[in-house]
Amino acid sequence: MSSRIRGLFRNSLTFRLTLWYTAIFAVSSVVAFFLFYTLITSVIQQKTDEDLLDQAGKFSAVLMENGIGAVKELALLEARAAGERTIFFRLLYPTGQAVFSSNLASWKDLPFRKEAIEKLIGGADRFIETVNMTSRHDQVRILYAMIGPGVILQVGQSTERYMRIIDAFRRVFLVTMALLVALAAGVGWFMARRTVSDVETITGIARGISGGTLETRVPVKGRGDEIDQLAATLNGMLDRIQSLVDEIRQMGDNIAHDLKSPLTRIRGLAEVALTTGKSRSDYETMAASAIEECDRLLNIINTMLLISRTEAGVEKPSHEKIDLSHLVREACELFGTTAEDRGLTLSCLVPDECLVTGDTRMIQRLLSNLLDNAIKYTSAGGRVDVSLSRIEGGGVSLEVKDTGIGISAEDLPRIFDRFYRGDQSRSEAGTGLGLSLARAIARAHGGDIRVQSRLHEGSLFVVTLPSSG
Ligand code: ADP
Repeated sequence: MSSRIRGLFRNSLTFRLTLWYTAIFAVSSVVAFFLFYTLITSVIQQKTDEDLLDQAGKFSAVLMENGIGAVKELALLEARAAGERTIFFRLLYPTGQAVFSSNLASWKDLPFRKEAIEKLIGGADRFIETVNMTSRHDQVRILYAMIGPGVILQVGQSTERYMRIIDAFRRVFLVTMALLVALAAGVGWFMARRTVSDVETITGIARGISGGTLETRVPVKGRGDEIDQLAATLNGMLDRIQSLVDEIRQMGDNIAHDLKSPLTRIRGLAEVALTTGKSRSDYETMAASAIEECDRLLNIINTMLLISRTEAGVEKPSHEKIDLSHLVREACELFGTTAEDRGLTLSCLVPDECLVTGDTRMIQRLLSNLLDNAIKYTSAGGRVDVSLSRIEGGGVSLEVKDTGIGISAEDLPRIFDRFYRGDQSRSEAGTGLGLSLARAIARAHGGDIRVQSRLHEGSLFVVTLPSSG
């Protein structure tokens, strides 16, 4: 396998998951086999020991009742019945000398343990051991037991029969395990592929999106699992990015549009001055108009910068203790004349004193933007009501309510966007920046601004600010 393909395998999540799954399965199976194997061998050994002890008990009883002759007969009979290759009996004196034995033709080099005899003479009732008999190629379990005064029985049983069962079990287990591990690898691969293929789909779509198709969305399968959550999160992020991109695009269009008109007018003025200007006073009038247009342009650019700086937290409001009642009264007085000129009733309802912490200049700007709009978008005979009150649980609420042209449901969510101007209001002078600035100021003070409005019925702007701490 080339190193590239090896690397590919190592880096593949499918491969790693499959490997883990198979390894865990194989290790668990080996542990299970080991436990089972140990259990079986210990049960078999226990059973063999019980058989040998039974034999010893039987021989002891026969010796007591019928004497040594009957014991010899019994040894021959039992050995023949069970198979002389499978079991042997030997009667020993405590000196280790053999008195009698069953046919030992298949038991060449039969061991004799001195230590066993010593233990029995010392008072132990039995001695059991497992012996590896190289001449027979099997293991033998041998019991030494005192069956009567001065008579020791040595009885041994081959474990060949049981070992054959265990060997068969081992072979069956190994074959089954090999098959099961192969099956586990297959199942692991299949499950890993299923999971990873979902991730691959998401990666593919994300790659496509990086290539420029911002409208594409990752399919959510509705299973509610981690993959679905990833897809939903990614889609949410894409929605947000798309709306930001749209906003930036829209803002770019608006800026271009708003700067184009004054520039065109300035150019027009210069052209007229060049082609038709006759006297000094003609040039002076045109220069004054050009300055006016430039001021308008500068005003737009400065407001834009102020909004950006306030929103980004660069332009931080100062922390003065301000009597908001006083500022609202002042603003109402200032706009009172304009309201009167336009045939409107302007009312101002404020408490004697209402303290907030903030920036006087910024709050004055916020107030004048709201009052200017309310007066601008309300026709003669209408009302503008300004009121200030404390909110339960802290904070203050400033309401500017008018009975003007109102705002359509389509325009309502966008009026706080930079340069956005409702269709209804195009006939009035404006830049579309007033409300964006008002919101940036309210938020920079830890408050907010919201609006309720219906077309042709009027609007209500509510500014909330935290009260002075
Ligand atoms: P401008 O007033 O310069 O157009 P603003 O940002 O102050 O810009 O307002 C954005 C838009 O919100 C306005 O163009 C207008 O459509 C709408 N608007 C704001 N205030 C009012 C109001 N009191 N009554 C009706 N429409 C309003």
